[in-house]
Amino acid sequence: MDINFTQVFKEKKLKLTPQRIAVYNYLKSTKEHPSAETIHKALKEAYPTMSLATVYKTLKVLVDVNLIQEINVGEGNFRYDGFADPHPHIHCIKCSRVDDLEGVNFDFLNSSVKDNTDYEIISNKVYFYGLCPMCKKSK
Ligand SMILES: [Zn+2]
Ligand SMILES: [Zn+2]
Repeated sequence: MDINFTQVFKEKKLKLTPQRIAVYNYLKSTKEHPSAETIHKALKEAYPTMSLATVYKTLKVLVDVNLIQEINVGEGNFRYDGFADPHPHIHCIKCSRVDDLEGVNFDFLNSSVKDNTDYEIISNKVYFYGLCPMCKKSK
């Protein structure tokens, strides 16, 4: 378990329950951007008493303290990411897979948008949509 995790929990005076640790570790171990249902299914065997509602509550706590991020690719349900720093995502419109888009920096967007609005720009979220390599092949 990384130090950041225990530290954040201590600072926010949150209880380090086995379920919270399990959900966090699971998210850290995958790059799949799972939904709450997927996380629940994956942890059910090791934590049979953990309900889907607990998984949702745990995810909310982890999002609130910025240890994970919630991403919405427009599917109607949220996906979760153990990598909390803002980064762009690409979503397969056929199989719903979500990947990180690595090596592309979109920070310049904030400064280009600044010239077109009176808002103070704080952040942006960039999503791309397409067909993943698997779906592209089976097309
Ligand atoms: Zn796909
Ligand atoms: Zn991601």
